[in-house]
Amino acid sequence: MGTDEWSALAGVSSTLLALAAVAVALLAFRSEHQRARFEGARSLHHDLTTGEVAAARKIMGSLHYGDFGSTSSPADVSQALTSYFTVLWCFERIEAGRTALARGVIRGLRKDNAVDYFDTLVAWHATEYACGFAVARRKLAEASAQEISDGDSASGFGRLILALQSRGLVDRAYRQGTCPGAGCPCTCHHQSRP
Ligand SMILES: [Zn+2]
Ligand SMILES: [Zn+2]
Repeated sequence: MGTDEWSALAGVSSTLLALAAVAVALLAFRSEHQRARFEGARSLHHDLTTGEVAAARKIMGSLHYGDFGSTSSPADVSQALTSYFTVLWCFERIEAGRTALARGVIRGLRKDNAVDYFDTLVAWHATEYACGFAVARRKLAEASAQEISDGDSASGFGRLILALQSRGLVDRAYRQGTCPGAGCPCTCHHQSRP
């Protein structure tokens, strides 16, 4: 082999090495990106299940399933209103996070499952509040004698329900993402009253 052939071969090898380095960097980038996406999904779920949101959800549970209304003290109504918005705003953050997660799939790379994972974590929580927010809103309006003004925040929750319904993870009986009244599958409508 002459000098020219050797230098041509060396050129090809260094190009191959450079391409291999790019491939390794892409793989590392992709795996770091995937890890960050799953971590993002986990931290959104964490927001929903811990701290002040978890405490607010306990109060929302009694508002949804218990007897709340005419006998509730003004302090109870005020605490319940705070809890209502604490949980609603958490779902608003969750919906924004899901939208960002869905946009973050790298084009050309194999689809990852971060959004699937996230949806599975969140679906049953969202299902509970599809009825829960509607029932709580009605009881709070009765107890405080005024409508609950939550339009902007509630629209985020509505988009989340629609997205989960389109994937078959939330019952379509929740039309417009809320309690349909008659025909609602939520157990709160089927409790026996003393
Ligand atoms: Zn319902
Ligand atoms: Zn219900």
